Amino acid sequence: MSVAWDLTPLYSSPADPRLDADVAAARVEAAAFVERYRGRIATLDATGLAQAITAYEDLEEQARRPGFYAHLRFAADTQDEAARRLVDRTREAALGIANATTFFELELKALDDDAFARLAEDPALAERRHWLQLVRRRRPYTLSEPEERIVNQKNLTGRGALVQLFDELSGSLRFTLDGRELTGEQILSMLYESDGALRERALRTFLDTYATHGVVWTSVLNGLMQDHRLECELRKVGDPVLPTHLDNEVRPETVDAMMTATERNYPLAQRYFRLKAKLLGLPVLKNTDLYAPLDETPSRVPFEDARSLVLYAFGAFAPEVRALAEDFFDKSWIDAEVRPGKRLGAFCASMSPHTNPWVLLSYTETLRDVATLAHELGHGIHDRFAARQRPLDYLPPLTLAETASVFGEILLTRVLLDREPRREIRRGLLCAKIEDIIATVFRQNVLTRFEMAAHAKRTEGPLTAAELGDLWWNENAKLYGDAVEMIPAYRWGWSYIPHFIHSRFYCYAYVFGELLVLALYQRYREEGAAFVPRYLELLAAGGSEAPDVLLGRLGIAIDDAAFWDRGFAVLEDLLAELEATLD
Ligand SMILES: [Zn+2]
Repeated sequence: MSVAWDLTPLYSSPADPRLDADVAAARVEAAAFVERYRGRIATLDATGLAQAITAYEDLEEQARRPGFYAHLRFAADTQDEAARRLVDRTREAALGIANATTFFELELKALDDDAFARLAEDPALAERRHWLQLVRRRRPYTLSEPEERIVNQKNLTGRGALVQLFDELSGSLRFTLDGRELTGEQILSMLYESDGALRERALRTFLDTYATHGVVWTSVLNGLMQDHRLECELRKVGDPVLPTHLDNEVRPETVDAMMTATERNYPLAQRYFRLKAKLLGLPVLKNTDLYAPLDETPSRVPFEDARSLVLYAFGAFAPEVRALAEDFFDKSWIDAEVRPGKRLGAFCASMSPHTNPWVLLSYTETLRDVATLAHELGHGIHDRFAARQRPLDYLPPLTLAETASVFGEILLTRVLLDREPRREIRRGLLCAKIEDIIATVFRQNVLTRFEMAAHAKRTEGPLTAAELGDLWWNENAKLYGDAVEMIPAYRWGWSYIPHFIHSRFYCYAYVFGELLVLALYQRYREEGAAFVPRYLELLAAGGSEAPDVLLGRLGIAIDDAAFWDRGFAVLEDLLAELEATLD
């Protein structure tokens, strides 16, 4: 199999003269933009501002193209020196342009409220209202310009240094298991081994090694939490999660409703844990058994079959979805072959509504890879539908970004299950999907609750490692109940989670994305074909409105706990289907 992408529609090679010409042209355009608008935003009328936004958007799009190409070339071959140099060169150019044009958003933010309200109501800016509001949303929490500069500068050596310490130390750790030296990734991958004693040894060794550096993790997390608390006080942000809600374009009440619904459904996860214990022949599951494989021989799926499976699943949902997916195969927008030097993992990269997205994965013929293909093509289809949006409204916020990808995976799972007569294989498929949902919904909810509890307790003073361990243990115990026994070393389970360090409160967005899709899928099951055009409208809206507005158009009220419960109905049915394979 040789499925490699063809990037020549972007540039013929890193040496393509058009590439340098584009970089140079973007620089000239940026200079012209600065010359024309810097210091003048407050003087523009609505029509003038609309023109400025369009110019800004065109400029951004133009400036991004060379770097986008460089990034794709580099991902396809990280050993390629020319690609690496191109990444550096284009990054510098793009940074220069971004720095030159930051005044634009700053001046928009600085407009006084009355002036802004008048502009936002003007019909000439109707299509730009959402983007303008996005720019303005942090205004109440913004400090003066010199203060912001000081915060940025001190972050480099303050918060930034703590994050770097975490990264460097955790990256440098090696784990000795049965006489072998392993990296963190290698030892954690052993949780998927079939030998239960080995799985437990692996997780214990991993956590014990982390525990030997407990002073560092405790101090780093305490420092970051205090830094955040002090910055919130400075900016008069009452709730430490609020900045994350602003990024995600959701209200705190929505997240509350979602998390409460998730907790109400913890017993569903426990029902699965008991089933899995039965399938593995264990009296009770340990938390090192959660990802244990069931012993059936995995099937191999050649790429051609994966292609027809995914196209069939998409086509059965909507012919136009299939047609868009076919483009990715027919026009060589997919890089699926396994090659040395290729970047690990998978992605779908989208630059602008005027250029097609590109999908990269390393296809090794497993069912997991077929799901990855459906996932990344889902992203691609989302972005193709949204291609009618302006560049600034093109990409959805994080909370909606996984909609089509996860939806695509569910459609695929359904087709695989419906086509598979063998009970053992069906069982494996069901377990894989359910474990996926548990890891994305329930586990991420636990992570978020731990983080919220830790930040709340930090206001009383620094937490000891034992206190952090207790908070972690208690939140996990709520999920596991008496269905899963945690190994004692798991008290250190909080210490290695990079999200707490890199992007606080990020994890609830995973819950949101997955549950939203499950609830949408439930609607599809109830409404059938009538649901399809409304779902496609949602995709086509891209990032042009906040999630509650877009979902409101589908008659969905995301502040309502009952909405989130619908998602769990899908999980419950999958569980019942799994239980039926046991009879
Ligand atoms: Zn994704």
